[in-house]
Amino acid sequence: MLPSREDTRQRIPVLLYHRIDTEVDAQWRSFCVSPQNFADQMRWLAHQGFTTIHLGQLLDYYQHGSPVPSNPCVITFDDGYFCNYSRAFPIMQRHGFHATVFLACNLLRYVPAKPTEERNSFMAWPEILQMQQAGWAFHSHGLDHRRMTELTRDELLAEIGISRQRLTARLGRPVDFFCYPFNQFNADVQKVVRACGYRGACGGPPFDENGPADDYAIGRTEILWGDSLEQFAFKMKHGLGYYFHVKKQLGKLKRRLLSV
Ligand SMILES: [Zn+2]
Repeated sequence: MLPSREDTRQRIPVLLYHRIDTEVDAQWRSFCVSPQNFADQMRWLAHQGFTTIHLGQLLDYYQHGSPVPSNPCVITFDDGYFCNYSRAFPIMQRHGFHATVFLACNLLRYVPAKPTEERNSFMAWPEILQMQQAGWAFHSHGLDHRRMTELTRDELLAEIGISRQRLTARLGRPVDFFCYPFNQFNADVQKVVRACGYRGACGGPPFDENGPADDYAIGRTEILWGDSLEQFAFKMKHGLGYYFHVKKQLGKLKRRLLSV
């Protein structure tokens, strides 16, 4: 028997990171968090009793009421930067946390030697497999990190379908989730993702306690360079930062007042 709706109501935060880096320039402000802030955020999660779960567990929970540990959250990284391995991995290991990384196959490093320049380097397979061994999950971000909404059907099938085959072969594990590069997708792209055998996909705004309205639009909360620990805690609770949360609440209020 499925648990009652009341039992299943909790918002599971899904966080989105890209790079963990000591310096940031204007172009990267949205895509970079300092190692110090990242360590503080992970320590805060541990102190609050959070446990990391994977996206499959998240969908099982909302679809079937499957049990999840108390205070669950999902942590994701996009693109597969080397700093996910060199900086985020050891920090998260300290707290027993794991994450999901969305890899763009053709961006990965093919030389296994450690990159001399860490900033814009990507991971190589030995690092990925070591993290997988430690409980991290790897899913698809396509082949070349292209905007899916601008592609022909054949190009979509290659980006979405072939990336899944290639990653499955290298990882030896099912690759069940896709992540839309640049957060851009439409119904046609979603259909191809589904047809290629994925169980779900990340994209769109964060969801509430009822879970994602669409398995192929699992919204995430992006953590930014300038986020204080208070802002991070607020985002964990509400999904959005102060500004967008207030804007959303005002929108709801306005709709309610107009419908009276
Ligand atoms: Zn990306």
